[in-house]
Amino acid sequence: MKKGIVAFLIAVMCLFAGCAPAEKSETLTVFCMDTVMEIRVFGENCTETARAVAAMLQELDNTWSYTNEDSVIYRLNNHKENPNAENQKILDFAMALSERTGGALDPRLGDVSEVWGFRSERQRVPTREEIENALAQRKWDMGALIKGYAGQQAAQLLLSENITCAILNLGGNVQTVGSKSSGEPWLVGIQNPSGGEPLGIISVEGTASVVTSGDYQRYFEQDGVRYHHIMDPQTGMPSRSGLSSVTVICRDGMTADGLSTALFVMGLEQGNALWQESDDFEAVFVLSDGRMYATEGAALSGCEYEVIHREK
Ligand code: AMP
Ligand code: MG
Repeated sequence: MKKGIVAFLIAVMCLFAGCAPAEKSETLTVFCMDTVMEIRVFGENCTETARAVAAMLQELDNTWSYTNEDSVIYRLNNHKENPNAENQKILDFAMALSERTGGALDPRLGDVSEVWGFRSERQRVPTREEIENALAQRKWDMGALIKGYAGQQAAQLLLSENITCAILNLGGNVQTVGSKSSGEPWLVGIQNPSGGEPLGIISVEGTASVVTSGDYQRYFEQDGVRYHHIMDPQTGMPSRSGLSSVTVICRDGMTADGLSTALFVMGLEQGNALWQESDDFEAVFVLSDGRMYATEGAALSGCEYEVIHREK
């Protein structure tokens, strides 16, 4: 399960390697938010700032974890304890994104992931009754957005410390900070669900989030059927929208993360419709049969794909 993330991380880092040869750099690998995260910071103070980012990520994990009994989410779900104003804003942002995506992103499916066993090693297909009960609970779960939020917070921290070049891989969420000293764009690989070389490369200028949601990131198999972790809020079942992954490129990390999950549920057609009425993100869709589509502003290379153009 985690193998994919590690392979992707290697792919991203290989693409990046050698881009700023003379500069001082620090790379930290941490396990946080149930995934492997890599923080790579260039320039003076790189060690201190990379450590500060690692500490911040850990703190955000503690604050937003579904299972940590001290977290905002746990206290809200289990003790009806309201978060402070700052954290409430983050929940409000998630709900606004849910509305924007017609409910495809639903940050209140907590118990649904639970009955499928995605938070434990005891994954299994639940009964219809268990799913209905879980849907009715409406428990908060920020798992679809919080890594993106963490990326944008990390970027802010790094920029405030005068770091002008850094790249973070937060378990499939790539956050770029500033630009490479060579002046070239950042290159981020789109993971091949079956492993091996990336399917394609996205070029990114400046500080941005490149976030992928895919059916290969967390899954289990039962009776020969594969069940993944991205749920259709209508059914409480793993979404079957004909996609294998969606990558979103956006200046705002939480939006990138929330939209990647939502677009995965919406599928290519509805995803395209949402993009047509938006101007804050680009997307790359990988279909289950391997075909690829990219919105016209996504700087994708190294693969064959169909461009999605603006209709007006
Ligand atoms: P991501 O990997 O960002 O696509 O987010 C997937 C995670 O978000 C899952 O592990 C669940 O915790 C949660 N989740 C699953 N389906 C949804 C959904 N439709 N809307 C919001 N959160 C979801
Ligand atoms: Mg997401």
